[in-house]
Amino acid sequence: MNVRLQGIGMTSPRTRERMVGRLRELGIRHPRVLTAMRSIPRHIFVEEAFASRAYEDMALPIGFGQTISRPYTVARMTELLLEDGPLRRVLEVGTGSGYQTAVLAQLVGTVYSVERVHALQERAIRSLADLNLRNVRLKHGDGHLGWRESGPFDGIIVTAAPPRLPAALLDQLNPGGVLVAPIGVGRQQTLERIMRTDAGYEARSVEPVVFVPLLAGTV
Ligand code: SAH
Repeated sequence: MNVRLQGIGMTSPRTRERMVGRLRELGIRHPRVLTAMRSIPRHIFVEEAFASRAYEDMALPIGFGQTISRPYTVARMTELLLEDGPLRRVLEVGTGSGYQTAVLAQLVGTVYSVERVHALQERAIRSLADLNLRNVRLKHGDGHLGWRESGPFDGIIVTAAPPRLPAALLDQLNPGGVLVAPIGVGRQQTLERIMRTDAGYEARSVEPVVFVPLLAGTV
């Protein structure tokens, strides 16, 4: 067994149960989302120095000036995505260390995730393989473009904030599909849930959020 796998079992079930209790207090209700949050070990997705704080409800650094999202935010976005029922193909923009990817993999058919920082993508490949999650496809690329060859998607989740939604993402959403994204600049961001209907798009503003910006190009 390698060192990373040994780490997977290291947190007590009670620590994770406390995190799930906190998510419930904050209004997360979807039973399958709560189950997925309970089963994915968040500590393997944060830098080792922060592993002991992995089950606190806070964003933490993952290197390259990026952060792993707060558990509440991951749960809330997942719940919004699944609100109208199960989804088969889901695109995530901004893999980061792969935590949201892992949570989604428990809940949908296949997760396609794009990350612009090559080193983060490599790390996510290892963490997701350690968890033996096989319904995940990762790509190094600029998420502004979506992932055309693998689309269209039944769900799209954007985990970095663009000032406005890239057209390619709206294009790659199936009719009946749902897109969840933070939209805005700096501290002026709103979480939006957008449905594609046969007639067009219907948007609902959910709550204020603060995400890192969706950046152009790849590194
Ligand atoms: N989904 C992650 C969130 C990571 S933070 C989680 O579960 O915690 C947002 C991520 O989006 C960062 O890793 C950042 O590098 C990435 N990102 C920013 N702009 C991007 C772009 N244009 N295309 C793909 N990824 C991008």
